[in-house]
Amino acid sequence: MEKGIQLYEGKAKKVFATEDPDLLIVSYKDDATAFNGLKKGTIEGKGVINNTMSNALMKLLEEKGIPTHFVEQLSERETLVKRVSIVPLEVIVRNISAGSFAKNYGVEEGIVFEEPTIEFSYKNDALGDPLLNGYHAMALGLASKKELETIRDLSFRINGILREFWASCGVDLVDFKLEFGRDHGGDIILADEISPDTSRLWDHGTKTKLDKDRFRRDLGGVEEAYAEIMARVQRNLEV
Ligand code: UDP
Repeated sequence: MEKGIQLYEGKAKKVFATEDPDLLIVSYKDDATAFNGLKKGTIEGKGVINNTMSNALMKLLEEKGIPTHFVEQLSERETLVKRVSIVPLEVIVRNISAGSFAKNYGVEEGIVFEEPTIEFSYKNDALGDPLLNGYHAMALGLASKKELETIRDLSFRINGILREFWASCGVDLVDFKLEFGRDHGGDIILADEISPDTSRLWDHGTKTKLDKDRFRRDLGGVEEAYAEIMARVQRNLEV
């Protein structure tokens, strides 16, 4: 499949058209941003790792019955995906307190929840991605009631699958962000990526952070953490 014109360049990825109107090529960059683009940098090798890891995890999810946009990895950094119209919501699932949850509710990081939580924020950089609930999302026309039900159901199922997978890698899945889209037929499918950029991943034994928080919080060892988490995935999944 040949790369056509560039349709979009985001913070971590570029998107290209192909000759098939229902397929796109995503190309992963090493660029990293945090705090709504205020902090910028590069994580050497991140694009290759996130592309490969996200594809391996999407394949695992597909095998377990979750519909995703993944079609085929084309190269180290490039993947063929189904074209979707993105539902402008960031869906965040949490198993353990961290990040904005700990800050907003005044609790320490590391509290293991009895039940996972889910929250939505409105994907809108100009507004700073504000939190909203399902009724707000419907009022704004971002998704229908049925679509929100599907998104919630898929998100919790994805959490169950990923938690078990990460546990097999000796990793606690603390929280992660998902994005969904509507495919050609209007069905809701998982899109975007699942990677250390979009998930908090702590070593189970030591609670060492193996994710983008090392970049956000200037903890050092960023590239090493991405390489370590990739090596653990490679030991447990076909990539
Ligand atoms: N996250 C993301 N993109 C965002 C915001 C959050 O991928 O724009 C991920 C983040 O990596 C973490 C989870 O969503 O795994 C929860 O993030 P949180 O709300 O705690 O926000 P943060 O503390 O990162 O600002």
